[in-house]
Amino acid sequence: MKTRHLLLLVLFIVSFQLLTAQPNINLIPKPLSLERTKGVFKITSSTMISVSKNLNNKAKQLKNFLEPALGFELPVTNKLTQRNCIELKLEPSTKESGKEGYQLDIKPDKVVLTANDEKGIFWGIQTIRQLLPSQILRGAVVKDISWELPCMLISDKPRFKWRGLMLDCSRTFISKEQIKRYLEVMSYFKMNVLHLHLTDDQGWRLEILKYPELTGICSKFHESFKEPSEFQGYYSQDDMREIIEFAGQRNIEIIPELEMPGHSSEIFAAFPTLSCKGDTSKIHPFFKGPSVHNEILCAGNEANFRFIENILDEVVTLFPSPYVHIGGDEAPKKHWKECPKCQNRIKEEGLKDENELQSWFVKRIEKYLNTKGKKLIGWDEITEGGLSSSATVMYWRGWVKDVPEKVAGLGNNLIMTPTSSCYFDYNYETTSTEKVYSFNPVAVAFGAEKSEKILGVQANFWSHIDRTSSAIDKQLFPRLIALSETAWSSNDNKDWNEFKIRLKTIKKSLDIIGIYYFNEQ
Ligand SMILES: [Zn+2]
Repeated sequence: MKTRHLLLLVLFIVSFQLLTAQPNINLIPKPLSLERTKGVFKITSSTMISVSKNLNNKAKQLKNFLEPALGFELPVTNKLTQRNCIELKLEPSTKESGKEGYQLDIKPDKVVLTANDEKGIFWGIQTIRQLLPSQILRGAVVKDISWELPCMLISDKPRFKWRGLMLDCSRTFISKEQIKRYLEVMSYFKMNVLHLHLTDDQGWRLEILKYPELTGICSKFHESFKEPSEFQGYYSQDDMREIIEFAGQRNIEIIPELEMPGHSSEIFAAFPTLSCKGDTSKIHPFFKGPSVHNEILCAGNEANFRFIENILDEVVTLFPSPYVHIGGDEAPKKHWKECPKCQNRIKEEGLKDENELQSWFVKRIEKYLNTKGKKLIGWDEITEGGLSSSATVMYWRGWVKDVPEKVAGLGNNLIMTPTSSCYFDYNYETTSTEKVYSFNPVAVAFGAEKSEKILGVQANFWSHIDRTSSAIDKQLFPRLIALSETAWSSNDNKDWNEFKIRLKTIKKSLDIIGIYYFNEQ
């Protein structure tokens, strides 16, 4: 009898555990809270999408995401439906979740996605996509599959409001189509900023109507280098509008970066008089010349400011983002030291040295941007020689440890992109996916008490080493997926070993989307 009782007890425990065990829910980034409940919601040909009229566009997006693989239509109704529907609704009562947070309640008879804002609804839709079998990402009908959503209650919101990726489109031109591929994947992992490094010594990549030479001459490598045509080129303003719109539909903001005063030698291929020395430059692939040029925009020449302001006038009209990134990194001061115009400027403005001249330069550009209602971002060198009170600093020089403290102490905002964890041009031996995952931006910068000064995190991809589409994919993935969780999920919720299991399944989604990724040993 005793043995029988024991057996029954064991059976009871096992079945209880089976019922209550958390099956592996493969969501990345991990939601703030997830409570698994019993049952599943099945999407069938009689399922409807129920929305209020102001969310018709989100219903359309949900349809577009799901219908190609489902092979049947999900009709949209503006009437409240009680059963077999996915309901999307805006509800201001969930204020603490901000614009990007959402609640997702999946019950056997109904799915309800609630948020304060369309942004939250969009992220909730991405969660629904990830909860379905990964075949849902296929562009064609998938047969013999049950489209089930496991029942659960999710309450979610991001840790950081800036969850970014930078693509260097100068060292190697990155096509509009490839940018769209990345925007698709970024939005699937709830990343919301794409920073485009549009100008550098290797080429000017954005059409400026007032200066056609910038794209006519400065977007091409010198012919003597015989660079493949796909590595050079530019985005017309129409291309850029298309990218911005495509990104906007996916909750992603495009941040333009125009490098100044250094990393600007490509400009002198067409406008040599804007440099201190006046020499015409010959645009070379990254490894065929110096990685940092001494040629620099002359800070003493008023014509330069008219030139920059005319360019910025077009940029601020083209890009809806409140931010314009002006670079500001690695600006060698050799030519400024030797230039009578620059030395004259230092004297006139009562500046101490060339570092202060750079700071004066940046502040002047910032003032101009502010008159256009825009905010300036610069690489962390803009802190040298004095920082204006409103500039946002992108921290990249991880070895200059006191920058975050200094920036936050002045009350300025920071975006964390240190080389140690966020440089995706580095190989995987140097920067493994685990290293990216383990990165805690607040701990690296300072104590938690100043975390509100950290807008967020960003991966930077410089395109001088890996240049083909598949090679760039492999540099970005799976590291970008790891960073998406660092950017969105709470630090307490992170666990590398458990993430690895989810990542394994998510890689199947990358296979379906057609994204290459690096396989680490
Ligand atoms: Zn000069």
